[in-house]
Amino acid sequence: MEKNCLTCQSKLTGRSDKKFCNDACRNEYHNQLIRNRGGGSEKKVADTIMQNRKILSGLYANGVRQLAKTDLECYGFDFQGITGLEFLEKGKMLLFCFEFNLVKNGGWFKIEKGPLPA
Ligand SMILES: [Zn+2]
Repeated sequence: MEKNCLTCQSKLTGRSDKKFCNDACRNEYHNQLIRNRGGGSEKKVADTIMQNRKILSGLYANGVRQLAKTDLECYGFDFQGITGLEFLEKGKMLLFCFEFNLVKNGGWFKIEKGPLPA
């Protein structure tokens, strides 16, 4: 049975389970799959999370340990980009962004730095 490369359509020779003529075609095919999937929204979320981490890291490095939600948003923090969420007692909430924790208490957020999650 004759088979063609899934990327460039050139004729394949050799092993019958081959799908690509070379690694470049294989990589191109997988990159395209990732690009097509969800219109790149995973990438956007990942970027947001990295951006949030940068913001928290900068604030923490500057000695900021507590600030209002509006201040966080002023710095560009996006609440869509977190790595975890936990509800605590009395309406307290814990947001995770890698090694940084945001503890929401009323209208305030406390920044804590923990160990990097494994
Ligand atoms: Zn090819």
